[in-house]
Amino acid sequence: MNIETIVVGEFAVNCFVCTGTDSQALVVDPGEDADVVIAHLRERGLTVAAYLMTHGHCDHISALATVHDAFPAPVAMHPSDWNWAFTATNTLPPFFCTAPRDPGSERVDFAEGNRYTYAGLTFAVIATPGHTPGGVCIHFEADDTLITGDTLFAGSVGRTDLPGGDSRTLSASLQKLRALPEQTTILPGHGPASTIGQEKRTNFFMQGD
Ligand SMILES: [Zn+2]
Ligand SMILES: [Zn+2]
Repeated sequence: MNIETIVVGEFAVNCFVCTGTDSQALVVDPGEDADVVIAHLRERGLTVAAYLMTHGHCDHISALATVHDAFPAPVAMHPSDWNWAFTATNTLPPFFCTAPRDPGSERVDFAEGNRYTYAGLTFAVIATPGHTPGGVCIHFEADDTLITGDTLFAGSVGRTDLPGGDSRTLSASLQKLRALPEQTTILPGHGPASTIGQEKRTNFFMQGD
């Protein structure tokens, strides 16, 4: 598997473009800059097999509908975030004043522990609520790679003071991630990559009980 990172928008969201052996891609969190993502896909001669949303926040999904217009494909997100992702509550003035447009795509509801295969790539979904109710991590087990969204960052974790956030719930989610192999690479929704082992050693929020 190859993963390219495109840093998009005001909040520097990491959009990940994952490819296997063919010209189809998985697009994780398109962010807010559709033109950049579309240009990247065209430049690489890729089409999209599926869009994977780590969670519903507007900075991660605002470009979704426009990218989907250019490259239609199923969109996957946890139902607890589908509930509000395309409603008027999902704004962050002054940066995002209108709610993200619903792409009107085929909808895939992520479910805890399920495995999915698109573009020849198989991943498991780990439900990690706390930053949002429907936050997930996307685990490419064969490649020891975990896309963590805003659940876990290098040296930090996602904030829990936004609507739907809950710090106790997030702590329980982080305990699940502690159980993963130490060598697992983590690719957060913002900022640099790390590993589970590195975060267990150095991230205050990943300490055991
Ligand atoms: Zn977020
Ligand atoms: Zn974010």
